[in-house]
Amino acid sequence: MTDAKIKIALEAKREQVQNRLKQAASDTAPVALDQTQQGRLSRMDAMQQQAMAAETLRRRQRELAQLDAALQRLQAGEYGYCLNCGEPIGDARLALDPATPFCISHAR
Ligand SMILES: [Zn+2]
Repeated sequence: MTDAKIKIALEAKREQVQNRLKQAASDTAPVALDQTQQGRLSRMDAMQQQAMAAETLRRRQRELAQLDAALQRLQAGEYGYCLNCGEPIGDARLALDPATPFCISHAR
């Protein structure tokens, strides 16, 4: 893939993640105490859902940070190399997750 194509792919993904981030942020709004708004949901269910939404929010924020970092590496001409060992990251791996900063041996 050319740098221009990678940039387009990264930016498209970034926009997608940003939209999901906005959605997750609105899902973490404080649990309404108003009984009339609780409906069929118990307060505990509502709090559980809120905790899950908070976790989703954190995950989206990490994804966004990873995408930003990938775009910066692309601009610096360092894109596609493992941050741990400096070896090139496999094309198949990058195709699957263009923002990944690590090669297959250093993933996780
Ligand atoms: Zn590596």
